[in-house]
Amino acid sequence: MSHDCCSQPGLMLPADALLRMREQVAPLDGEEWVSLEQSPGRVLSRDIAAAIDLPPFDNSAMDGYAVRAAEVAEGVTLTVAGKAFAGAPYAGECGPGQCVRIMTGAALPEGLDSIVMQEVVQVEGDQVRFTESVREGHFVRGRGSELTAGTVVLKAGTRISAGEVGVLATVGVADVPVRPKLTVALFSTGDELKAPGTELAPGDIYDSNRHALRTMLQAMGCEVRDLGVIPDDLELVREAFRRADAEADVVITSGGVSVGEADFIKVVLDEMGKISFWKLAIKPGKPFAFGRLPNAWFCGLPGNPVSSMVTCYELVQPLLNHLAGEPAKDAPLLEARLQDNLRKAPGRQEYQRGILSRTEDGSLIVTSTGAQGSDMTTSMSRANCFIILPREQGDTAAGSLVTVEPFNAVLGGL
Ligand code: AMP
Ligand code: MG
Repeated sequence: MSHDCCSQPGLMLPADALLRMREQVAPLDGEEWVSLEQSPGRVLSRDIAAAIDLPPFDNSAMDGYAVRAAEVAEGVTLTVAGKAFAGAPYAGECGPGQCVRIMTGAALPEGLDSIVMQEVVQVEGDQVRFTESVREGHFVRGRGSELTAGTVVLKAGTRISAGEVGVLATVGVADVPVRPKLTVALFSTGDELKAPGTELAPGDIYDSNRHALRTMLQAMGCEVRDLGVIPDDLELVREAFRRADAEADVVITSGGVSVGEADFIKVVLDEMGKISFWKLAIKPGKPFAFGRLPNAWFCGLPGNPVSSMVTCYELVQPLLNHLAGEPAKDAPLLEARLQDNLRKAPGRQEYQRGILSRTEDGSLIVTSTGAQGSDMTTSMSRANCFIILPREQGDTAAGSLVTVEPFNAVLGGL
């Protein structure tokens, strides 16, 4: 089995690089209060405890009749004393021989203990005839049955999405304490890069990385300062770094890290900051760089489009989550039966692009998106997962069980 040109046994695996980044980087300090509407995507800065019981009062889970269970049996008739609606409780008396018409969410009237659903009774005027007995407490959602006041419902470090917004609203929270939003400055480097929508001169390509990366970073909850394309010119790269460093928590660049003749990122990094590591045992994405600038952290992504997206997803995303105050979490991995033969040389951990699906019998299978060139952006848009092949693995045959990492919402999700 041939080793490819880029196999370098000394390079760190992505998981080790992540450990190293987490060791060096402390979450950003600070707290601000935002409205519930502004809270999605933000990270809670403190635990949220419920100020009320949930539910706040005993209420009906069904449309039907509130009764005393002891009075109800097959053939029994009760008289309707009144009606209880959600938001309009029945305030009157309900004596022996009586019941209350009740709607879902209405408070259980004083003295009653159970709900009989309307489907199992016969109604004539204000007389309700029951066809079966009822267990005490049936269809009653008891006060505090979900949780009692004082219970922590959301922990500090939780990223807020729809479920969390629902919880915050349910316990009546309108102002939400959150960690500061990360500001990320982003620029591409390369004389060949032209803006989509313009004409390409010979040798030019469109700058796709900045647009794809900006989209990913926004989906990760960052405020993105897009500094555009910086030409391969030492002074201009230097100037871009100064600006980016001054206005961001993290500076992210694409291209110019391969240390070719027009690659000035390393030169400027050496002048201005401190490089922590340069190059990892990852494919695509080997020339990934991480370090410190005077004010901001720095991630240098490779120029090849797929490499830049893979490293943004696998390395930048966990770093940003950590900076934002989220606890470390493992990517959700699945095992799937490979449908194609995959080419791989030992030496680097690979993130090949795959399409995960389920067969009729329910087992997970994964298909390759085809050619895996790190310049092929369509392989990212067609994929819904990475097929992760361990460092020492070689060619992998169809029929093997492989590890897959389904894309999260940052890459469109599954
Ligand atoms: P570099 O890391 O600058 O040597 O770039 C490696 C490869 O990625 C070259 O083929 C570049 O043309 C290409 N590339 C660099 N930046 C971008 C970009 N922003 N969008 C698309 N392709 C890029
Ligand atoms: Mg370049």
